[in-house]
Amino acid sequence: MKQIRIDQKKLDKIEVSFVSQFYESLDTEQFTPCLKINGNTTFQDIDTKELVESTRATGHFWLFVCTRYGCGQPECGGFYDQATVLHDSSDLTVTWILRSPLQRELNKNGQWWLPASGYDVYVFDRREYLESISAALEEGKRLVAASKHEANIIGYAMENFMKAESVKWEPPPPLG
Ligand SMILES: [Zn+2]
Repeated sequence: MKQIRIDQKKLDKIEVSFVSQFYESLDTEQFTPCLKINGNTTFQDIDTKELVESTRATGHFWLFVCTRYGCGQPECGGFYDQATVLHDSSDLTVTWILRSPLQRELNKNGQWWLPASGYDVYVFDRREYLESISAALEEGKRLVAASKHEANIIGYAMENFMKAESVKWEPPPPLG
């Protein structure tokens, strides 16, 4: 296994919280993760289960979905590519590769189209990634338990959400 060196100052920062939206017509309170990257880029259209599963291993995830009225469909939100999430073999970083632009756009004729794209890359400290998602997950469970309405989480049936666990950070084995 190749050891990688990490310059902490060059890593991207991730903060995860839950935001709630009340849909009066459904008498439902929906809780969705809100991701803040480097203090300024905010991602709100997040599938909770895909985010939690992205703590487990390298893979492709439908992280971004339509979150209106509990929809959960990527295409409805204009998202046509899965996020690639890479866990490096030294367990030091988690890397996101995201289509850029993320979503389809409206052209001047009012039609949806998918612009030619590049990719955005974010590299997070694995410990920070796992700990921020784990803390947010527990916060989300507290918010759901305290809600006075029917609660909804995109990606999970409610009983599964209340049992959901993300991967907990553990120190990597000492260098050999
Ligand atoms: Zn939708």
